[in-house]
Amino acid sequence: MESSSSVKDTSEVIMPNTDNSMSTDEIDSYNDPLFVSNIPNGAYKWNKQNFCKFCKKGVIKMSRHLKHVHKDEDDVRKMNALPRKSEEKRQIQEQLRREGNYKYNKESLRRNKGFIMPQTRPRNKKHIEAKSYLPCVYCKGFFGKKYLYKHHERCFMNISRRKTKKVALESQLLLENYSFGTSDSFKNNIVLEMTNDEITQTAIGDFLIMKFGESIYSKLKKQHNANYIRQRMRQTARLLIIAKSIDDELEDLEDLLQPKNYDTIIKSVKILGDYNESSGEYGISALPLKIGHNLRKFASVLQTLGIMTSNTNTIQKSRHFLDLMNSEYIVVASQALTSLNHKKFNKPKYLPVTEDVKKLTVYVQRQMSTYSEALKNKGDSDSYIKLAQATLVALLLFNRRRTGEIQRITRRFPQGNKCQNIH
Ligand SMILES: [Zn+2]
Ligand SMILES: [Zn+2]
Repeated sequence: MESSSSVKDTSEVIMPNTDNSMSTDEIDSYNDPLFVSNIPNGAYKWNKQNFCKFCKKGVIKMSRHLKHVHKDEDDVRKMNALPRKSEEKRQIQEQLRREGNYKYNKESLRRNKGFIMPQTRPRNKKHIEAKSYLPCVYCKGFFGKKYLYKHHERCFMNISRRKTKKVALESQLLLENYSFGTSDSFKNNIVLEMTNDEITQTAIGDFLIMKFGESIYSKLKKQHNANYIRQRMRQTARLLIIAKSIDDELEDLEDLLQPKNYDTIIKSVKILGDYNESSGEYGISALPLKIGHNLRKFASVLQTLGIMTSNTNTIQKSRHFLDLMNSEYIVVASQALTSLNHKKFNKPKYLPVTEDVKKLTVYVQRQMSTYSEALKNKGDSDSYIKLAQATLVALLLFNRRRTGEIQRITRRFPQGNKCQNIH
C-alpha cells in the first residue's frame, strides 16, 4: 500500500516553486499581468493541475490527493463511501476540483497577478486576458464569457435547469462576494436588470453603492421605482470612475467620501455635469443636484454602518463629510440651479392646437372600433394588442393627467375599487 508521502510526490506539481505548497503568497511572485492558463505546446490535455480546495496546492491527480491527504474532510468521506465509478462520486469529485480552482482564481483576481485556471484550458500560445473568463454560479468553474451562456443551462449543478438572462452579471456578483440581505429580491429586480457595462461593474464592485441600493430598495419596493434606484446607483458609479481617474489612489466610494477628497468630488461633478468654466454654467444641469442628493444619502448610509459596527472612525468621517456637504455643496447646487432655470426660461413651450387634439381623438376611436371588430371576427392576438394600445391612448386622452397613473394600473385595480358596488 502506498504511503501518503509517496502519493504526495507523484501527484503534486510543478509550478514555479516546486517544493513548497502552492500558497497564495506565490501569486505575488508573478510579474506578468493576469492571464488564463493554457496548454503549452507539446503538453497533454490531461496533464492539467487543479488546486486543492483544502490545502490550496496544485495537484494533477486530485482524486488520489483528496483520498489520501484529506480523508477526514466531510465531503471526501462522503465521496470515499460511494461505489467506484458511480455518477454521484464523479460529481462530488468534480465539484471539489472546481471549488478549489475557484478559490485559487479568486485570489489571483483579487491580487490582479498570476493566472487563472479555467475549466478547459485553451490550446493557444497567445496571451489570453483573465477578464474574458468568468465563473459559473452553479459549479464555480471558469469558462470563456461566450461559452458561459451555453454552459449555464447544461451545468450539472444547475439542477432546476434555470435559465439566466444576465449570466455575466450573475458571475460578477459571485466574484464580488456581496451577500444580499434577507432576500434575493434586490439582486433579481435591480442588479440583474442593469445594463452590463463598466459603470454597472463598478457599482456591483462597490460595497457602499450596493448597500445604498439595497437600503433605498427596501423603502421603495414598487416596480416603477426600480429604474430610479438603478439610475442612482449608476450615477454614483460614474462619479466614482471619474474620481478614480483624477486620483488613482482612491479605492472605493467609502474612500472618496472623506472631507480631504472634497475637491476631487467637485472636479468630478464638473466633468460629469459638463461644466463650462467661462460661462459658469452646467451643460447637464440636473446632474450636480442629483449627485449632491446621492452623496448626502451615501454619507448617512455609511454613518449607519459605522454605528452598527461601532466603528468610531467611520462615524466621525461620515459626519464631517455630511457637515461639509451641507455647508459647501450649496455653491455647486446654486450654479446648477441657475443653469437649470436658464434652460427652462429659454425653452419655448408648445401647447397642442384644439384641431390636432380632435384629429387624434377621432383617429383613436376609429382604430378602437376597427380592431374591436377584427377581434370579434378573427380573435387573433395582433388585433388584441392593437386594441389594447388604442384603448390606452384613449384613456390617456380622457384622463389628461400624469401618464404614470394609467401605466401603473394593475389587473387587480378594479377589484379593490368602490366602482364594483355601482352595479
Ligand atoms: Zn490538498
Ligand atoms: Zn457550471
